[in-house]
Amino acid sequence: MKKTMAEVQVVRPSSDQRESGRLQVLDTIRSAGRIARIDIAQATGFSPATVTAITSELLAAGLIEESSSDDQPSETRRGRPRVTLKLRGKAHRIAGLKVAQRTITMLIVDFEGKTIVDHEMEFPTARVSPTELVDRILKIVDATCRKGGFDRTGLSGLGIGLPGQINSVSNFVHWSSSLLERNVELGALLAQRLPFPVFVDNDANLVAKAEHLFGKGRESRNFLVVTLEFGVGLGIMIDGEVYRGQRGCGAEFGHTKVQLHGALCQCGQRGCLEAYVGDYALLREANGVTVGEPYTDVAQLVAAARGGDQVAMSIFERAGAMFGMGLANLINIFDPDLIILAGRSHNKRHIFLDAAVTRAMQSVVQVDAPPPEIRTHGWGDLMWAKGAAAYAIEKVSGLTVKDVTRNAS
Ligand SMILES: [Zn+2]
Repeated sequence: MKKTMAEVQVVRPSSDQRESGRLQVLDTIRSAGRIARIDIAQATGFSPATVTAITSELLAAGLIEESSSDDQPSETRRGRPRVTLKLRGKAHRIAGLKVAQRTITMLIVDFEGKTIVDHEMEFPTARVSPTELVDRILKIVDATCRKGGFDRTGLSGLGIGLPGQINSVSNFVHWSSSLLERNVELGALLAQRLPFPVFVDNDANLVAKAEHLFGKGRESRNFLVVTLEFGVGLGIMIDGEVYRGQRGCGAEFGHTKVQLHGALCQCGQRGCLEAYVGDYALLREANGVTVGEPYTDVAQLVAAARGGDQVAMSIFERAGAMFGMGLANLINIFDPDLIILAGRSHNKRHIFLDAAVTRAMQSVVQVDAPPPEIRTHGWGDLMWAKGAAAYAIEKVSGLTVKDVTRNAS
């Protein structure tokens, strides 16, 4: 029966609703791996007719593909092979990169999240001008693409994680320890030079995303990731979503104050947690009293402490106490069920982590319920880059579904 225009307008969902419906179906397929239409209907609560309509649009857009049950090892069904849907890996190549102190690590994945190629480049200086950072990013983008056998036009999007206060909505860097200048339009600078969209976020947020999708946070919807590297970062996962704050500058755990009129921090203020536990803080304190060759790497200081050097030991003792105080504050505010301590250099931090955790547990509000679990996770930069790629997949999916919606209306 043919509907009149008025009826059509009444029953037709708005384009926002259709867009979010398509995204929901895409997410359901992504988290299931392979899934039949009827199971998508069950998972989303959409009618089978709606699921059929949405999936045929996604099929037409090349984002998903059908796969018969023949190629999966599950139990065989009688009659017609069961048709399931999966993401089409070839739909997009998406990149993620992590800007660390002297290295940039990049990873390119397909639309299913499978790694295609990765690459790491070392640079002589840690803090650079925005122009120099853009040049470095372009350099690694091209080098990684070359390694994968394609060029930058073969990419659909790039996620970038760097330390600092970043507004991920506008890809704007308020401040970063990797940049010599404040208030950098990093997204806009890169957009002028790259043929695909760029998504910038705080690196600890991306680690939280990676932990949520691939790591120790898979079972938990409310957890915190504390990153310990050159500085201290925090990713807050609340109900399965990264919490970023109103200005996108939240979760600056490293700059929470642990001492009134305390040590000078690289952010310009005093008494920040980072000014007691960050690499630079430990070295600054050690070199303030050490006569002879100054320490240039925290690893040297760790070796000295392990060898019984009193100065080195006392530096880590204080850092552990300060870090424990910070962890206790986090637990008292968020009451998470899990805290993940992550970072490339965390292994050498074991020297103060145990003391920090003990101190934290003594300082949390005591109730008759088990305290949150604290786990350490020593991922390399590649996993940080994977978090950046996962974030870019989410963003590219959103943009592609927007296109599908625009073309359908
Ligand atoms: Zn600070």
